[in-house]
Amino acid sequence: MTANPSVTDATLIDGKAIANEVVEEIGQQVRELVAAGQPTPGLAVVLVGEDPASQVYVRNKLLKCQQAGIVSREYRLPVETMESDLLGLLVDLNDDPDVHGILVQLPLPKHIDEQKVLQAIAPEKDVDGFHPENLGRLLVGAPDALVPCTPLGCLIMLRRTLGDALAGKHVVVVGRSNIVGKPAALLALQQHCTVTMVHSRSENIEALCRQADVLIVAVGRPELVRADWVKPGAVVLDVGINRVERDGKAKLVGDVAFDEVAPIASAITPVPGGVGPMTIACLLRNTLQAYQRQQR
Ligand code: NAP
Repeated sequence: MTANPSVTDATLIDGKAIANEVVEEIGQQVRELVAAGQPTPGLAVVLVGEDPASQVYVRNKLLKCQQAGIVSREYRLPVETMESDLLGLLVDLNDDPDVHGILVQLPLPKHIDEQKVLQAIAPEKDVDGFHPENLGRLLVGAPDALVPCTPLGCLIMLRRTLGDALAGKHVVVVGRSNIVGKPAALLALQQHCTVTMVHSRSENIEALCRQADVLIVAVGRPELVRADWVKPGAVVLDVGINRVERDGKAKLVGDVAFDEVAPIASAITPVPGGVGPMTIACLLRNTLQAYQRQQR
């Protein structure tokens, strides 16, 4: 029991455990498909350059594919790869019937136009959900939209935490990127939430965040969100992954000051072990969804 009755000890939203369940469920479905004589779902992952964080993300994605029985192919291209060569590879992968999902790891080197590359992926194989056609489908609520993995992971965690009580809640999304903030807001709207989006130009950002029943933070600023930004009892999802140095050691921290906010929130995701693992689990989910669409 704490001295302040409005202050609670937050439940930890264990993204790692939920992600393991999702991966296990997908693995089960893949095993059933293969046992029924269907082809094995396949994912192609393209990495351009040697960005260390991207290499870790790609390695983790490939490992999880293996765990779920999805065949993965890795294409590692040198940093000086020409845009036209990358686009040529995507044409081949779009035409390859053994490849059901294509992921190009971001960020790309500066000389390559990211939007051009994302739009060159066939929408039905776009397992990251970044193609404008899939983002448009998400906007209109089409059931066959391939939804960006990180916001989809956030939604699954929210559904598990709040269930039907999610409807009607005030969700404040901090950050308006195309890959996290905007799709997260659209998904919350689909769940009948009241949605506010804030960004670097918003006025009174702390006061707006303090109104949130659910706070989703995707900014990329270490521990930006402090205790006085959070309403007691709010659910807090921290998407941020920031590498910082503390006491001479490298450490990963989120966009939320976890130690301060956890005693106030009703539930909160840790960093690491929160949103990150869910992103990879949702990539497998999207690969299976893309596969099922292509088998029809
Ligand atoms: P991004 O494209 O850089 O977008 C950041 C957003 O935050 C922008 O909309 C920006 O506003 C806003 N912002 C920046 N400073 C702000 C401030 N002081 N107050 C309010 N808003 C501010 O980043 P992103 O790709 O969405 O990623 C955000 C974070 O999530 C990063 O740490 C990234 O590493 C992490 N991430 C994690 C996962 C995962 O799987 N866990 C996946 C993707 C990203 P403006 O639009 O006004 O500039």
